[in-house]
Amino acid sequence: MKFHELGLSAGIQQAFVDAGYRKPTPVQSKTIPLVLQGKDVMVAAQTGTGKTASFVAPILDLLTANSRRRSNQINGLILVPTRELAIQVHQSIKGYGTNSGLRAAVVYGGVKISPQMMSLRGGVHLLVATPGRLLDLYSQNAVKFDQLNFLVLDEADRMLSLGFADEMSQLLRVLPSRRQTLMFSATLSTQVKKLAAQLLKNPAEITISPEHIAAVQVNQWLAPVDKKRKTTLLLALLAKKGSQQALVFVNTKKGAEVLTQRLTNAGFSAAAIHGDKSQAVRLRNLNEFKTGKVQILIGTDIASRGLDIGNLPVVINFDLPKVAEDYVHRVGRTGRANKTGEAISLVSADEFEKLRSIEQLLQEVIRRESVEGFDPGHEVPESNGVPSPRKPKKPKKPKKHSKSGGPG
Ligand code: AMP
Repeated sequence: MKFHELGLSAGIQQAFVDAGYRKPTPVQSKTIPLVLQGKDVMVAAQTGTGKTASFVAPILDLLTANSRRRSNQINGLILVPTRELAIQVHQSIKGYGTNSGLRAAVVYGGVKISPQMMSLRGGVHLLVATPGRLLDLYSQNAVKFDQLNFLVLDEADRMLSLGFADEMSQLLRVLPSRRQTLMFSATLSTQVKKLAAQLLKNPAEITISPEHIAAVQVNQWLAPVDKKRKTTLLLALLAKKGSQQALVFVNTKKGAEVLTQRLTNAGFSAAAIHGDKSQAVRLRNLNEFKTGKVQILIGTDIASRGLDIGNLPVVINFDLPKVAEDYVHRVGRTGRANKTGEAISLVSADEFEKLRSIEQLLQEVIRRESVEGFDPGHEVPESNGVPSPRKPKKPKKPKKHSKSGGPG
């Protein structure tokens, strides 16, 4: 499909050309025409597929056709789970909407509320928001929903896993029911489907399979290694990559800090982003990574969604994620929208169950490559993507506070 076949305005098409896009990605080809027809849609797609443009572009066009601003009123609302994603979606709106003359704003928690109140005073066409801050603003009459025609829920599964279910219910009670609603989620859990049933009217359903993205565009492989040798292996792999940038995922905030320190000691310019860092530090580290000042960014899963880093050549899973879907999100940070990338996982024997869940989700076995000098003493079994047999329940023991998943 070509851009001009989607039904978008010349202004948006020009913005795509200016961004260097040559053709729509699959999620854009499938979603944009339906949104322009006024349909509710439920889209299963993760970041990296070009999904942001698939809702921003048609909504900008629909708003242009019908755009009046009134004080504190908004015409379209995009709800996202994290500040990083909020900022990124807002940037996309500014980019795709350069020729539209529409006003967009972004609000999220962890920063002063008053500048956000000011930005809403004259009304905005399109608001990007995290749920908690939006409710705060609503309770202070800084935002009103009477003129709301469009609602987008981005990364709905993340929204639920981060515990925003209550905020979502509160918001849904105050949003007008006559509206067009689009919902995006990387995975379609029972909870997500339940939320979709509450939100959407007779939706068209679109699925962009994770296997497609992960398998086609990203060269994925894993290196079996003993847990205590992971850091040394990481250093060896990074040394081989020379000055290439890499995003490294760990499972714990402490793990991120320890690893950053070790890489720094080894002479790499490394920085971490995780939930214990302030918003300002997270943004600074991310920007320094984007501009190339920092070579290695180490993140927990907070970093696996919503990060838009152009040309990121390699993602490394220092720890396999606890939730299999997060693997897909992490890997989706590279090989974005028609580019190729590499995803390497360092896997130790104790991570076998996690590996099995990931391979089951992908419905494929991740290629193994042993790195010379790092063959593990504790072998990582082959999973062949077969479901694990149910284990009999053991009697509960008192919990120990173990340092899970940190660098060994
Ligand atoms: P998203 O999945 O929305 O986070 O987008 C991932 C990346 O794909 C972003 O860097 C976009 O700028 C880029 N992108 C979006 N649409 C296209 C397209 N049609 N062709 C090439 N890149 C695109």
